[in-house]
Amino acid sequence: MNFRFFKSLYWKISALFLLLLVLIGAVYSYITLFTAEMYVQEATQRVSIPLAKSISEKVAMNVEMKTSPEMMRKVFSDIISFNPTIEIYILDTNGIITYSSLPEGHRMKQQVSLAPIHTFIKDEGNTFILGEDPCYLLDEKVFSASPILSKDKNIGYTYVILHGTEYVSSENMLFDSYIILLGQRTLLVTLVSAGIVGLVILGFIMKKLRKTKEAVQHFESGIFSSRVEVKSNDEIDQLGIAFNSMANTIEANVEEIKKTDSLRRELVANISHDLKTPIASIQGYAETLLMKEENLSSNERKKYLETILSGTNRLITLVEQILELSKLEAKQIFPKPEPFSVAELVHDIVQKFQPQAERKQIRFRTIIPDELPFAFADIGMMDRALSNLIDNALQYTPEIGVITIEIQRNNGNLFVNISDTGVGIAQEDLPHIFDRFYRTEKSRNRNSGGTGLGLAIAQKIIEAHGFAISVQSKVNDGTTFSFPLSIVTS
Ligand code: ATP
Ligand code: MG
Repeated sequence: MNFRFFKSLYWKISALFLLLLVLIGAVYSYITLFTAEMYVQEATQRVSIPLAKSISEKVAMNVEMKTSPEMMRKVFSDIISFNPTIEIYILDTNGIITYSSLPEGHRMKQQVSLAPIHTFIKDEGNTFILGEDPCYLLDEKVFSASPILSKDKNIGYTYVILHGTEYVSSENMLFDSYIILLGQRTLLVTLVSAGIVGLVILGFIMKKLRKTKEAVQHFESGIFSSRVEVKSNDEIDQLGIAFNSMANTIEANVEEIKKTDSLRRELVANISHDLKTPIASIQGYAETLLMKEENLSSNERKKYLETILSGTNRLITLVEQILELSKLEAKQIFPKPEPFSVAELVHDIVQKFQPQAERKQIRFRTIIPDELPFAFADIGMMDRALSNLIDNALQYTPEIGVITIEIQRNNGNLFVNISDTGVGIAQEDLPHIFDRFYRTEKSRNRNSGGTGLGLAIAQKIIEAHGFAISVQSKVNDGTTFSFPLSIVTS
């Protein structure tokens, strides 16, 4: 036997729903039957008011003359022959039974309570009320009553127990009354239909929930493309939409993590490679120096030592660059902005690169307007970014070229443009040149040169100042890097 079904939400809700329907049906039936019974009793009591009155009129004389019980029984039997479901009692003014329609010797009470009779007579039968049954100790019955008057004096009461209503008890009505039976059948049909419709609707809802659950389970098992099919906008669909958007975020994050992971591997590989080359060369030259110490001319020794020094410098630069970039990426260093003159900074940097430029017969051209406002940025960081860009311009411009550094004022900012007449960058390389360790094919083939970190550092510095760096380039024509700078606002 499959017990899982009984543990399902569908089973639990439908069992509860059906139980509720049965309960509603039972309560409704009970109320209907009870009300109908009461209604019949009340109606019988009402229509019997003239009956008690007419008996009072008929027996008034006999009561006054204190007729014998036999004689009275005869009078009663005439009346009862037309209405066998009644019992007639004549009470004196204290409620003591003086005559009854029951056969002689029948067991009954001597006296009945007059309180319900008084209420009944006072309200002229408009209040539904039960009275004592003289034949039973505790039973209360529907009755009709009327005072017996003789010369306008009350000499007693006619008390009629209306047994007719007993034939319309709830149980009898349930099986005998056509109307009640019809009502009960209608109720049954309504409840069964409600049950079927309810279960079908519940089935649809559960199917939707099941689909949502399956999608979530697939996702959980690692199928990150799993999504909930959303057709409308009800609560379950909203749950699906929320899940889908959460799944999109998680999927994107997983992709991002994978990408970062592969980048990290690439980074480690690049760093290892870039460290290995200078270390190997330092090691090689150091070993040669040691082995051939005696046989080396002073010129050769100087050459070897210079190579070792340049290798060491290269290592230091590389390690510094890696450290700086990782700090910038981890947002461990923040710009400390201060006002400074860009013209002076550019001038200093140009001075710094002048010897290098002269060696390649490259000319620096600076276009800086007079009376330029002070820039507001981290001067150390800006020095670094500009130096990296000018260093690139020098590296990638063949002999007899021009490097132009132009400062413009625009929209409340300064714009720095660094252009060269160099080899340029191919369109397919442009989107990658700011990536760590990225070098174009041409640069990679060159023996000299960097590690591909200069532009990544420059970009991170500009971004840390809240701006973006852009590049325009044409192969064999030249390259221009541009970025904005804040100015001092008074
Ligand atoms: P380093 O880390 O020493 O600066 P790098 O110069 O190779 O090494 P980046 O400065 O990041 O690295 O530049 C990345 C690549 O972009 C370079 O290898 C080069 O191919 C290309 N590039 C950068 N600037 C220029 C330029 N002005 N003209 C032509 N190509 C350039
Ligand atoms: Mg560079």
